[in-house]
Amino acid sequence: MNQTLPVHLNFAQKAKIGFEIQGKLPIKQLKRLSESLLSNDGDLTVELKFDRIGPVPFIVGHITAQLELKCQRCMQSMAHPVDLHFKLGMVQKEEQIEKLPEDMEPYLIETDNNHLPDMLEEELLLALPLVAMHEFDCSDYLQKQVLEQQDEVEKPEEKENPFSVLKDLL
Ligand SMILES: [Zn+2]
Repeated sequence: MNQTLPVHLNFAQKAKIGFEIQGKLPIKQLKRLSESLLSNDGDLTVELKFDRIGPVPFIVGHITAQLELKCQRCMQSMAHPVDLHFKLGMVQKEEQIEKLPEDMEPYLIETDNNHLPDMLEEELLLALPLVAMHEFDCSDYLQKQVLEQQDEVEKPEEKENPFSVLKDLL
């Protein structure tokens, strides 16, 4: 049951009556997130449940996606799989934040016309790495440095540098 997610929802009212929804959202609809990506192709897959515990309305969410970040070391594409779970307790004022159950992040509700893609985008942006970088040494420069250091440690008495021959020829 993959449907297109609605843009506007009354979060508090949905929590009051209990509401579940699953669907897809094109990544390109999220402008701020797209700015951090090399490509905004593809969709988010989203599952949301609106409910309440006692007086506290909350949203439980799960987002999966394949994002394409730009590695800040080699500037190449970097696949970033997202599998994000979150639980937001709705508050109308700051004083309510401390009364939230510990496993909930506060989510400020200022209107009854809430923007669903904005909420999802905020959660995704919070979960992105501060500096995207490949886990392996992806930069040629860094790789050379590492190899040179290894050479020094492992082969301190290198007999002949093949490049010295070239140097003589030049
Ligand atoms: Zn890289």
